[in-house]
Amino acid sequence: MEKHGKTQHCSEDAITAYLAGMAEREDANHVAACLDCYARVERARIEMEHLHAVAEALASRPEHFWNRQRVAIMDRIPYPRQGLGRRWLWAPGAALAFAVVLLVLMWPAQVRTPVSPKQEIADDVLLSEIQSDLERPVPRALEPATLLVRARNDMAQSSKRHTSGGVQE
Ligand SMILES: [Zn+2]
Repeated sequence: MEKHGKTQHCSEDAITAYLAGMAEREDANHVAACLDCYARVERARIEMEHLHAVAEALASRPEHFWNRQRVAIMDRIPYPRQGLGRRWLWAPGAALAFAVVLLVLMWPAQVRTPVSPKQEIADDVLLSEIQSDLERPVPRALEPATLLVRARNDMAQSSKRHTSGGVQE
């Protein structure tokens, strides 16, 4: 009856190795001969298959879970994202426009008056300068500029009239 009294049953490692098809010849022979160890191998095989199924279920469930998560997140994101986009997309453009305006404002001033900027030129002096500019013969290319100067002149004079006299137009 005690057929396997002397023999060593397979170790857990040996059972695992047998399942993996990497058992020592000695262990393989023992499993073939020993019902106990054969049963252990079968139990381990069933356990492994069960674990495999569980692992597959776990692997497939998280994917589904993450898909749902992604959908849920995407459902929530567009609103703040659109708001953010609308709110912040203009920022670089505005910065660029601001830089351009600064450049336009600063550059001519520096070029015209590099040393001591006479920013407080009286309007009358400016107007007389413009007047003398107008009296000079103007190259054809600068004619639009003279139109601008004339318009500016008219505006200045009309504003003068506004301040001194009443509104008369
Ligand atoms: Zn055995």
